[in-house]
Amino acid sequence: MKAQGTRRKQRLHGKSVENYSIRYGFMHLYTKTTQMNPFTDLLSLLLPRTCPACGKSLKDWEECLCLICLGRLPVTNFHSEPDNPMAEMFWGRVKLLQAIAWFYFRKGSAYQDVLHKLKYNDRPDIGFLMGKQYGYELRQSQDFVRPDLLIPVPLNPKKQRKRGFNQSEAIAKGLSDGLGISLASRALTRPLATSTQTRKSRYDRYLNVSGKFKVTDAALLENKHVLLIDDVITTGATLEACAEELLAVQGVVVSVAALAWARL
Ligand SMILES: [Zn+2]
Repeated sequence: MKAQGTRRKQRLHGKSVENYSIRYGFMHLYTKTTQMNPFTDLLSLLLPRTCPACGKSLKDWEECLCLICLGRLPVTNFHSEPDNPMAEMFWGRVKLLQAIAWFYFRKGSAYQDVLHKLKYNDRPDIGFLMGKQYGYELRQSQDFVRPDLLIPVPLNPKKQRKRGFNQSEAIAKGLSDGLGISLASRALTRPLATSTQTRKSRYDRYLNVSGKFKVTDAALLENKHVLLIDDVITTGATLEACAEELLAVQGVVVSVAALAWARL
């Protein structure tokens, strides 16, 4: 009851990945941003950490998936294959430097369940830890082209209010940690409605047409290689719209990454 009360209190100040670290005992991952106290230390000891795929208790050295589930993950290795089938899907639609996903999305698999829990069961901590693990793997790869900045796909504001968090941002935070690359969560936003104010520049007219997404800090992005982060890539339509928006900024190069690719 006390834990629930604590969580409700934190909700008043906006839901964040850090809040969930208290509930699920991942305190050690947030020492930079979360203050430690005896109560939360005790909670992290009392609540067992479990593998979100198989449900078994995690060993001290296992961070998110247990080693067995991690070993069985149907990885794509798309970062070692520039002309991979997911990248091909974007050909002729939008110019991307690399298009990568950690694993194949398979219906009915335990990993589909993990993605479902992350999104609908109030578990941004899963997104963070999965992103972090993927980040470790990309960091070790010679083929992965390191970006300058990570940007999560903004969620529809109504959905974000309802869900309380953006699952892509949770993943991007983990990737940022695992890769050691900065995150610019607010560089791209999804305004509630298209602005009716008079637009003058060519760039602004372009914004009016594509509509959904808006770059908030073009100066930050100029001449940067940006990696757009999503949870699952299916048609790629959302990423395409985001990438188009980013590519309107001077000198920007865009890549996309997701935890999973759901081949249509
Ligand atoms: Zn497992």
